[in-house]
Amino acid sequence: MDKDTCIIFDFDGTLYPIIGFDSEQLLIHCLAQEADEAYRSEAERFIADDQAGCFLLEDFHLRYAALARRATPSHIDEVARRLAGLLDTRDREALARLKEESGADFVILSCGTENLAEAFLDHLGIRDLFSAIRAKRLIFTDGGEATVRVDIHTPEAKRRAVEELRDRYTTIVACGDGPTDIPMLEAADLGLVIDWSGSNESGPFETHTTLPSLCSAIETYLARAREA
Ligand SMILES: [Mg+2]
Repeated sequence: MDKDTCIIFDFDGTLYPIIGFDSEQLLIHCLAQEADEAYRSEAERFIADDQAGCFLLEDFHLRYAALARRATPSHIDEVARRLAGLLDTRDREALARLKEESGADFVILSCGTENLAEAFLDHLGIRDLFSAIRAKRLIFTDGGEATVRVDIHTPEAKRRAVEELRDRYTTIVACGDGPTDIPMLEAADLGLVIDWSGSNESGPFETHTTLPSLCSAIETYLARAREA
């Protein structure tokens, strides 16, 4: 057991399968349910554009920040509860076991929303496995509108965040699910992909279709690295 290993996870599509909406789309969808017609149609357009891959990341964040202004902690909690329901006991146990066996620090680097990732981990009872979450944060003020503070928001920012961790860790493993993770996967010693759909398209990174399989591949890699 050593503390010189860091295991990095992307959030959306990596720690849970995207079924219909990712976490930010689901938040805006939930807000739309209790909003007026103008907001609802703006929200629908936003989600459709995002799903169609129409956004440059800066445009996405600006529109997300505008729509998320009316979010509250209870909306965050509702979204997180629904997403946590997509995982089962084996997924939770696989992450807990990997943490136990590896002694590694777990970090989330995401272009999504920190509050949603935190609340998701809370619902699963595994927040204490993770030592840091870096993404965008919704800031709530009493009686005011939520604002967005951006930390990590681009694929290159994820790569830089991995490089910053080099000072602290000798071994870095990164797990992601999509094109925005590629710079982060390239910057790690081992980059792995999770494809919850099981379509198993071959890409440049070893691909797994479940969290338990992903976690055991990391354990095997770290065990070999320790022996070497
Ligand atoms: Mg993702």
